[in-house]
Amino acid sequence: LKIPVVRDILEANDRIANEHRGLFQKNSLLVVNLMSSPGAGKTTLLENTIGHLKEKMRIGVIEGDIQTSADAERILGAGASAVQINTDGACHLDANMIRAALAAINIEETDLMFIENVGNLVCPAEFDLGEDHKVMILSVTEGDDKPEKYPLMFHEASVLLINKIDLLPYVDCNVSKIREAVLKINPHIKIFEISCQTKEGLDNWFQWILDHIKRR
Ligand code: MG
Ligand code: ZN
Repeated sequence: LKIPVVRDILEANDRIANEHRGLFQKNSLLVVNLMSSPGAGKTTLLENTIGHLKEKMRIGVIEGDIQTSADAERILGAGASAVQINTDGACHLDANMIRAALAAINIEETDLMFIENVGNLVCPAEFDLGEDHKVMILSVTEGDDKPEKYPLMFHEASVLLINKIDLLPYVDCNVSKIREAVLKINPHIKIFEISCQTKEGLDNWFQWILDHIKRR
């Protein structure tokens, strides 16, 4: 008698993710898996990023949401191509869902692809989607205790964007405490402080993308 265990699910996921990675590499596509809790500013960051970079490169977005296609419509409005995945209750994206979405994307005609994960600080970090980098947003309205409470996502991310810094005068959040806790979990992470409202700090993020893009 063999009892199926969760590890088997993750192994199957990793097999599919590795197929994606091969496909992305073959097409010189930079793929970023964007993660945060709900409302931290993922879609707003993407609107700003697309607006700034769309003349320089072709951008595609896979939007993951439990329901609605509202975010994909915002992405289309910003000038990128978009595919919506509705997870029907699931609180994260897995590699199999990405496989379904890839059928609707012209990878040969794309230079940069974002995967906007479902808003959730926990399990999105457990699933490899075949991306080059996981990028995480933490907004200052969420407080400075999140790295200690949800370390895995901070551990897996290549970049942390600390968002909504224009609201710092109004919230109880110590950014130095966040930086210190995150660097303890992940000494190699890049941390940028940004505001999508005032546009402060966004140039550092745009430059990070330009430094990592594979096909100019
Ligand atoms: Mg969103
Ligand atoms: Zn989940």
